[in-house]
Amino acid sequence: MAEAFTSSAASRFLRYVRFDTQSDEQSQSYPSTDKQLVLLNRLVDELKELGISDASIDQYGYVMATVPPTPGKEQVPAIGFVAHVDTSPEVSGADVKPIVHRNYDGRDIVLPDDPSMVLRETDNPELAEQRGNDIITASGLTLLGSDDKSGVAEIMAAAEYLMAHPDIPHGAVKIGFTPDEEVGRGTQHFDVNRFGARYAYTLDGPKRGEIEIENFSADALTITFKGFNAHPGYAKGRMVSAIKLASEFVHRLPRHGLSPETTDGYEGYVHPHAMQGGVERATLKLLLRDFTTKGLDEKARMLTDLAEEIVRPFPSASIDVDRRESYRNMKEVLDRYPEVIEHAKIAMTRAGLTPYFRQIRGGTDGARLSFMGLPTPNLFAGEHNIHSRLEWTSVQDMDKAVEVIIEICRSWAQSQT
Ligand SMILES: [Zn+2]
Repeated sequence: MAEAFTSSAASRFLRYVRFDTQSDEQSQSYPSTDKQLVLLNRLVDELKELGISDASIDQYGYVMATVPPTPGKEQVPAIGFVAHVDTSPEVSGADVKPIVHRNYDGRDIVLPDDPSMVLRETDNPELAEQRGNDIITASGLTLLGSDDKSGVAEIMAAAEYLMAHPDIPHGAVKIGFTPDEEVGRGTQHFDVNRFGARYAYTLDGPKRGEIEIENFSADALTITFKGFNAHPGYAKGRMVSAIKLASEFVHRLPRHGLSPETTDGYEGYVHPHAMQGGVERATLKLLLRDFTTKGLDEKARMLTDLAEEIVRPFPSASIDVDRRESYRNMKEVLDRYPEVIEHAKIAMTRAGLTPYFRQIRGGTDGARLSFMGLPTPNLFAGEHNIHSRLEWTSVQDMDKAVEVIIEICRSWAQSQT
């Protein structure tokens, strides 16, 4: 089956990365940049060329389309596949010149437009698994845009394949392309009802076989220390400096754990990331991260206790604590729909892969969609070194992802007979 996909996903990908679709954090509009609409509109045209007649784009730029169910499979739950077209604001995505390095043999890959950009197996252990494959990189001056145009290309190639092979049984397959994921607004106007899928998968992950069903739960905590100002010449015994209270607080945060620089895997952290202050008041902003809401509660409690302890000796000082929810671990939702994960595992196994789980130490559009009523784990798309000029993917990984999409559709259809 694999050979049949090769030309489609990779050749689509090589075309899509030439569209500059960088999103912009500072922008107040939606989508944040008009140039994303150029590719999004193009995708509508290409979907229609495949015979997908309901392909459309809404006022926000969301592209949605349906591969109709095969005869007799109308009752199978509609399954969605979602990818984002925008690329990271951190690295230029203009004039991307993709290069296919055929039959990778383990030697360093030097990017021609900046020879200091070198892909080495020693820095990229995942490259070692790609010997014999065709690696795609940019030319050294830009990112590649594999995040997430590989997802876009794979979903398009899978749609093309399903439209051309009506013998493969499947229910309605919903396709969604979104803007502004990289600036955290990818689902802001996503219309779950219009999309019409019961369950969905984002294709926006790295390594072959990976299924992501867990992400951080996140809160933002703002602690305001209120001190007492007096003329510094006559302040003895009276002045309480909020700057010093806040500094003492930061100084007494755990040193050997619970911080971004000392944790990985399932460990959470507390992260002071902005501070502003004077003698009267000082405000400290912290990010709280954990994989459970209970863990977040404990961290918030620990920080509040510490702040209270610091102001306790000063009757004229006090604190204010404001805690806001940022996002939650999608596992809270996905645990109720084990079949969504099960079909992904079956599909990967059928595609010859060994499925495995990895947790996301951040947020994901799929998590937000899950809490909007559309359970959506994330699957590999073959993106490596994302947000970097050393970003790469491989033709064979993309083909595997196409195969996985098709097998997921087949697996859902088979389970409903
Ligand atoms: Zn992405």
